[in-house]
Amino acid sequence: MTIVRTFADVRSAASGTVGLVPTMGFLHEGHLSLIESAAKDNDTVVVSVFVNPTQFGDPSDLDVYPTDLDRDIELALDAGAGLIFAPSVDHMYPFGHRTVVTVGGVADAMEGAHRTGHFDGVATVVTKLFSGVQPDSAYFGKKDAQQLAVVRSLAADLAMPVAVLGMPVIREQSGLALSSRNVHLDQQSRRSADCLSAALFRAAESYLAGERSVQHIRELVASSISSVPGIDLEYVELADSTTARPAMAFAGEQFLAVAARVGNVRLIDNVTFDTDATTVDLGIRLAGPSILQGGS
Ligand code: AMP
Repeated sequence: MTIVRTFADVRSAASGTVGLVPTMGFLHEGHLSLIESAAKDNDTVVVSVFVNPTQFGDPSDLDVYPTDLDRDIELALDAGAGLIFAPSVDHMYPFGHRTVVTVGGVADAMEGAHRTGHFDGVATVVTKLFSGVQPDSAYFGKKDAQQLAVVRSLAADLAMPVAVLGMPVIREQSGLALSSRNVHLDQQSRRSADCLSAALFRAAESYLAGERSVQHIRELVASSISSVPGIDLEYVELADSTTARPAMAFAGEQFLAVAARVGNVRLIDNVTFDTDATTVDLGIRLAGPSILQGGS
């Protein structure tokens, strides 16, 4: 039994240590890197594939979210998954479901400020997945750096016995962070979208060359993105990796995050600064085109 639809079936099929990789499906190498890491560390890897309606503020975004469960099953199994948990909306939110998990502080700025209710949806579904699957570890991408901070807060605050692990951002050769939403970018908007990572990389170079003004770094990112036609920048922020609070000085581990719309597609990206070691983690670039672009 590889595909399971209920929490009870996940628990009875899983054995030994359990690593959980929560996803919304339409998998790419970013997801596969999480699954591969989970497979190295655990006896059973559970990949959840669930397009969580409660984290979409905009119903039209939910309607066009790409799905292909057969493709996801094949990719996830190849990467080392033991179980694919693909529940129905009714299983996750049965009639009468009322509880909403709200994480304070860490969820307020950036994505929280621009996508009302988004992190309530994320925190609620992650809480359900943690309590229903009962994993030992759960794997999340640093691509969604604020989400990672929210999940870590939630697990700590609610004393959940789950190790929350953050994995590097996986990128196209061009630098564009992989996202299931990238399939909605045509050739031209894909090229425009490259300006997000290019601006973050330029900011990293500037920091490594000695720039320490957060204001200058943010302006550098904003001006290089705004100079590209067809891009609507939502925010550029430097934020603490643990609290996700925006910062006006470099200190400790922080991420420089951007969100922008390229046509109808909303994209986010970030790079992580370790100001003690004076290093910047830009993530990992693929050697060839991603599977989202027809690569293998
Ligand atoms: P999603 O299916 O977009 O909700 O993502 C599921 C998980 O995969 C989340 O923990 C994401 O942060 C992670 N993820 C998505 N894209 C990437 C990427 N390009 N690199 C690393 N992790 C990613």
